[in-house]
Amino acid sequence: MTSVSDSPIFDSSYRGRFAPSPTGPLHFGSLVAAVASYLEAKTHDGEWLVRMEDLDTPRTVAGAADEILRALEACGMHWDGAVVRQSARSDAYHAELHRLRAQGIVYPCACTRREIADSALHGIEGPVYPGTCRDGLAADKLMRAWRIDTRGVVIDFEDAIQGPLEQELATDIGDFVLLRADHVYSYQLAVVVDDAEQGITDVVRGADLLDSTPRQIFLQRRLHLPTPRYCHVPIAVNPAGEKLSKQTRALAIDYSNPLAALMPVLRFLGHQPPSALAKAAVADLWQWAIANWRIDRVPRTRSSPSA
Ligand code: GLU
Repeated sequence: MTSVSDSPIFDSSYRGRFAPSPTGPLHFGSLVAAVASYLEAKTHDGEWLVRMEDLDTPRTVAGAADEILRALEACGMHWDGAVVRQSARSDAYHAELHRLRAQGIVYPCACTRREIADSALHGIEGPVYPGTCRDGLAADKLMRAWRIDTRGVVIDFEDAIQGPLEQELATDIGDFVLLRADHVYSYQLAVVVDDAEQGITDVVRGADLLDSTPRQIFLQRRLHLPTPRYCHVPIAVNPAGEKLSKQTRALAIDYSNPLAALMPVLRFLGHQPPSALAKAAVADLWQWAIANWRIDRVPRTRSSPSA
């Protein structure tokens, strides 16, 4: 079993974040993560940062980042500091990948998507990379991506809402990609580098990312970066059980009427704002929400139907 030393845990002041991917306008599902992270930060007298996860340039939609920021402002959710954009941070990801390479735990991989999909090994997110290139590339193969060796790594952590989770990375996930064949740094690497750089103490986000968290804790430990506390709120699903997203045609928030957008989000998160607030000012809704927010009222499920 690989020995992975424990990372330091922040115990100082609270710093949270909302990290949308600008692949479309803010919709109900993303507003849930924004509101939960905002209220946790506010009720801990903390800071709330916004980071645009626009690293995956093929999926980034022109204008979506600005639209998301305008929607947050219209909802009265003001962030601290400057918005960080991942598209401007490749040098930092490059440097951390280099640190992992120096430890001899990452390797070039030549396998195609199809070859990996044919793997006989299955984990919690589908096919598990069978380790074909782990001991070096075959002579006729060209490198496509960088992967990290996960053999022997077991990670467990306690999520504030979802409870304890343990993963054996090699069998549950497999050696995962840090730099993709299209030269895009992976979400797993970028999020770890950015959360540390921004001094994030508490990550509050959708439970679709719960299973990514052990990969992130593994990278934090390898890079000697602190591990934030994690809190995964249920994700909103449609009647077919699909996550609300651009792909499932989730409706964009109509931010000309922010209260009509925010009240159902609070209800989804287990809170019951008085109906009189529907006609109040946004500031009044936040005053009520901050006074009444309790994380233990949020349903302890990974997904929940949206109203
Ligand atoms: N960018 C991710 C998303 O929009 C969130 C990443 C995170 O919060 O760690 O789903």
